[in-house]
Amino acid sequence: METTRRNIFRFAAGASAGVFFTPAPWKLLDDVSVWSQNWSWIARPLRGEITEKFTACTLCGAGCGIRARCVADQPCRLTGLAGDPASGRTRLCPAGIGAHQLPYAPSRLRTASINGKPATIDEAVVEVMARVKSANRVAVLDGRPGRCASDIYRAVAASDKKWHYVVAPGSTGLMAEMSRLTGVAWGLDTERVKTVLSFGAPVLHGWEMPGKLLERRADYRLIQVEPVQSRTAAFADTWLAVPPHTEGVIAGAIANVMFRDGLVSCDAAAGYRNVVASLTPERAAEISGVPVARIEETARAFASGGPAIALGPVEAGTLGREGAIAVAALNLLIGDRAAVVARGPLVLNAEFADIEEGSVDVLLIDGAAPLPPSLVRRKLRAGACVVALSAFPDEWTTLASIVVPAPAWMEFREDVTGSPDAVRNSFRLAAALVKPAVDRTITPADFVARAAGVDKTVAAEMDARIAAIHARRVGEVYKAGDGSRVELASLSADDFKAALNDGAVWVGPLEKKVRTGAVKWPSDAATFARALVPESTGDGLMLAVRSGMPPVPLLGKLYQESELYAAAGIVRMNPVAGMAEGTRVELRNAFGSGNASVRLDASLPAGVMQASNDAALKLCGAGSDAWRMAAVNVRRAS
Ligand code: SF4
Repeated sequence: METTRRNIFRFAAGASAGVFFTPAPWKLLDDVSVWSQNWSWIARPLRGEITEKFTACTLCGAGCGIRARCVADQPCRLTGLAGDPASGRTRLCPAGIGAHQLPYAPSRLRTASINGKPATIDEAVVEVMARVKSANRVAVLDGRPGRCASDIYRAVAASDKKWHYVVAPGSTGLMAEMSRLTGVAWGLDTERVKTVLSFGAPVLHGWEMPGKLLERRADYRLIQVEPVQSRTAAFADTWLAVPPHTEGVIAGAIANVMFRDGLVSCDAAAGYRNVVASLTPERAAEISGVPVARIEETARAFASGGPAIALGPVEAGTLGREGAIAVAALNLLIGDRAAVVARGPLVLNAEFADIEEGSVDVLLIDGAAPLPPSLVRRKLRAGACVVALSAFPDEWTTLASIVVPAPAWMEFREDVTGSPDAVRNSFRLAAALVKPAVDRTITPADFVARAAGVDKTVAAEMDARIAAIHARRVGEVYKAGDGSRVELASLSADDFKAALNDGAVWVGPLEKKVRTGAVKWPSDAATFARALVPESTGDGLMLAVRSGMPPVPLLGKLYQESELYAAAGIVRMNPVAGMAEGTRVELRNAFGSGNASVRLDASLPAGVMQASNDAALKLCGAGSDAWRMAAVNVRRAS
């Protein structure tokens, strides 16, 4: 056929029409889609029997009960347990909802390492034993005290005086400072509380046990004293925006007003009157800018709104020791009207911050201890060995010379003892529901026991604790499957253990009223009051760093894209700072420097910036007790 322009057009038109009638392209599409679904690395949904299993979340101390829907024994959906008496949560938080994905996170630690070189776990044990042998002081830092693993650490510390068992500040709960003052362990009575006066406590978000308080939100008044409008501040009845580091002054001034106006109802509080005598509301107003009338109004609301509770922030270092005492003292001033329940005599763990500086030769870290790395470095002797025992890389694995991979949650059976702030003691087991995604791991406690030559295992400790709880025959057992409750005394030891393995939780009885002994009030009023007053920031702005994003990859992405948490490299500040939206600025202080883009946010008080990422966290730190606040100089980046 002759090739003319007309024939080419006719051929093209015919081909276009014909393509709809030939099966070739459709077959090609079909083949490509079948072929591309069979690539070895494409994830395939499991097929198999659909079952329901019960476990508990160990990502934070709340220890929420979990109903896991499984396909072919693989958990695919996690939900909370209605009426869970231990955590008080019927819904899981965003971190818990997707936590069954964690074992498969690409960032998992897959092998041990010594000085950055891959090693076996046995080699790591031998190396640590050698370092321990020549050490004067070995410390085990427990990020989650109270577990059976913690019993092993205590046993190790008892076996040799060079070993020390220490916990991170804050891991003993929000009531810790009140407990220290009185020598009694306290729990927060979430059932009765009518007024919550929170000094930066994340009452409605982020705290270990907000379940009951979230459910009862309509039943109590929430006054939030905080420099930035956190999500708790946004949902509070009253938000007192205060400059950073002045929370302790406000707490002291509230106590001063209560003494002045006869609102104190506890004889043991008399010794505190002189301590806060100089912290008048007028002085607090001068320091914080909060009007005298608002301080007085808050004092009256707290004193007359019982049962009431004053709470400090989760990170114990944020207010400093004096600030934490000033907050805890408010609960003692209102005596029986404080919404607290005594849980028995206090068992105090040594805190890491109290260790002598430059004295630790070997430090083993179990869990994500909320401490600034700069503080940890100060405690180490030159050439000290840090051993990080973790499933995921974190700031401790970066600092460590020996890294040991631990199993991730759901890969091994562990125990959950509930929040230290809970009113009742509880105990449950978090069952292993998935096959380990990493071949060789060891639980931190088993590693420490091996390195110390102590013949104990977590599994044996768990059995011993279950037997000890059963022997007391008090409290009740909540069965996760049908939500029924039975008296522990009615169960045999085997039935109790079987119930725990099936997701049941044991909840102890309310403790009888414990008499509070003499309160250890600060002895030097002038030093106490001085320590509450923040130092001048010079020309700098205060940088407030909020905690990071949830660990689940998908939720992390949603959080970032919705900007519920500021993305890395963003710093929020009030327009009065004189910066335009998007300006690149350099943040600098004694601890480091970094660049960020400005996002204007009128909800922030003048003089305060907010960021929520690790780089900003590094600017808070060494030498400071306020680990998430720092004075920072800001200038336009060149
Ligand atoms: S609150 Fe804590 S224990 Fe409960 S689901 Fe969230 S991370 Fe897990």
